[in-house]
Amino acid sequence: MASKPDKPGGDGAEGRLGLDAARLPWLADTLTRTLASQRSHALLVSGPSGVGQMAFALALAKSWLCETPLADRPQRLACGHCGSCHLVDERSHPDLRLIVPEALRGEVGLDADEPGEGDGEGKSKKAKPSQEIKVDQIRTAIGFSELTAGRASTKVMLLHPAEALNTISANALLKTLEEPPGALRFVLSTSSPQSLLPTIRSRCQAIVLPRPEAAPAIAWLAGQGVDRPEVLLAASGEQPLVALAMHQAGLDAAAWLALPERVAAGDVAAFGGWALPQLIETLQKLCHDRLLVSVGAAPRYFAGARLVPGDVARLTAWAADLRRQSRHADHPYNAGLALEALLAQARDMGAAPRSDAASARPLRAGGPIHSRP
Ligand SMILES: [Zn+2]
Repeated sequence: MASKPDKPGGDGAEGRLGLDAARLPWLADTLTRTLASQRSHALLVSGPSGVGQMAFALALAKSWLCETPLADRPQRLACGHCGSCHLVDERSHPDLRLIVPEALRGEVGLDADEPGEGDGEGKSKKAKPSQEIKVDQIRTAIGFSELTAGRASTKVMLLHPAEALNTISANALLKTLEEPPGALRFVLSTSSPQSLLPTIRSRCQAIVLPRPEAAPAIAWLAGQGVDRPEVLLAASGEQPLVALAMHQAGLDAAAWLALPERVAAGDVAAFGGWALPQLIETLQKLCHDRLLVSVGAAPRYFAGARLVPGDVARLTAWAADLRRQSRHADHPYNAGLALEALLAQARDMGAAPRSDAASARPLRAGGPIHSRP
């Protein structure tokens, strides 16, 4: 039976289920190695978005704050049952400050309705939640770091994702990152370390999360109730949390493998309800794989699907066009028209033979699915 999230919350790639690193077996070795070897008060955890870098960062914070004596925790891992561990799980530990963009509060288990720290600027409820970590959040967090410890001798600031720091907030963080007051520790998680200010990167010890091995990732997905997990794992680009999000959004292996033929058939109805960025990303994967099979290589995302080779020059031009469109996908002038235009273009890239395997029901995938080919 699949385990369920402890509380309802975001079901994105970093949803609550994925926030418990103890349940993500591919992170275990790196976690114990990091706890044994860390030498800096600031760690920068990086990896592909769907492998659980936020879960990893939170596991570090939980281990640092755990109140069970280290002698009873040979690998320094959080015990998982002391008062401190429970408070971290409840996101109410007084010595842990989670700094995330307003738009991600629900996804990381914070109350999505509360304004973020230092966000009390009388903003309208209707305003779109911010995707940035704002300077006020950093200033409030620094104020927190200068107070005496509430419970533990250590305080932790966790920033996720660090690339959401804008230039002003990153600069506001720098001095505290360099000379933290007392026993303040930082953990920054990111899927895009190269986009951070070099001065932020240079103040942190880098921890790079490996891409999971297939076998434990497949076993884990099977344990979450995912049927034919190897198909969705490949579809996600080997990012298990993304594969789980696809499953939770209602996209199963058969629907994924039927997708190339439905695109080729110009089956617009199959993509009703899809968000534009999600469609573009999926078409990018399809284009990528058709290019591979066109040069005689094995597909990466659609292994097992019927993929027809095409003209390499045309497919390359299509890939470039999809890349261009992906930059504007969040602000389409008309999402419905854009979706139809994209599918018409995809159909014109060369039809796959229609087979009975393509089912007639719509492909469901309503949830947030983030991965990049
Ligand atoms: Zn504990």
